[in-house]
Amino acid sequence: MSMNGKVYLVGAGPGDPELLTLKAVRVLGTADVVLVDDLVNRAILVHAREEARVLRVGKRGGCKSTPQAFIERLMISEAQAGHTVVRLKGGDPFIFGRGGEEVEALARAGIECEVVNGITAGLAAATSAGVPLTHRSFTRSVTFVTAHASEHEPDWEALVKSGTTLVVYMGVARREAVQQALLAAGLAGSTPVAIVENASVPRERRLCTRLDRLARDIEAHDIASPAIMVIGEVARGADSLVQSDIAAAVDAQA
Ligand code: SAH
Repeated sequence: MSMNGKVYLVGAGPGDPELLTLKAVRVLGTADVVLVDDLVNRAILVHAREEARVLRVGKRGGCKSTPQAFIERLMISEAQAGHTVVRLKGGDPFIFGRGGEEVEALARAGIECEVVNGITAGLAAATSAGVPLTHRSFTRSVTFVTAHASEHEPDWEALVKSGTTLVVYMGVARREAVQQALLAAGLAGSTPVAIVENASVPRERRLCTRLDRLARDIEAHDIASPAIMVIGEVARGADSLVQSDIAAAVDAQA
């Protein structure tokens, strides 16, 4: 029998500690070592044992970061030392979180691994903004895309043609490129966009705008990462459902 410990990749959800799964709470309570990403709310660590070692391994775009290879080696060496390792990742481990790469690295090293779902930021953001992502009067599908420059550029034309609701991760820095690409792909300038910064935590801010004002409004309101953009007709109701000063200000401007 292997003396290796096990690694759990655990989705910590979007920030609100109440949005953790019961399974995440249980697994966290078994950890000897907890590796925590940047976007994970520290309040969640109350579910770890007092003796657990907590290591921060954040790697936010643009900030000082812990390289991915180092994180993977650390998980492997801790597991090889017989420890139960919980890798707490923001949102869901398999949504733009490199969870797939980490599972592959663990498999290559012969380490047992289990993935525990978390609520991904895109879902939490939509719910906060009162946007029913697949409201059947408006769309048949929802697509999670990243606008991060280092990833492959999405096929914006195909997406627009399909009429899918777009949930855009890592899009704030590339607001101008996203706006231009979608307009060029034929999406109407009047298409509603709901932007949610820090979804599900007290400092959450929401902004409802339209595609042709997307970049301008993000700048005007200083919206920063982490934020999600929901683009599509389903976001049209967001104005009336969102109770935020920002939305009111945008309404007044319009
Ligand atoms: N695995 C994560 C996503 C990691 S990519 C998940 O499933 O949510 C990081 C991006 O997620 C950020 O750039 C931002 O677009 C989004 N994000 C993460 N937490 C967020 C939050 N609380 N509010 C809004 N966006 C968030």
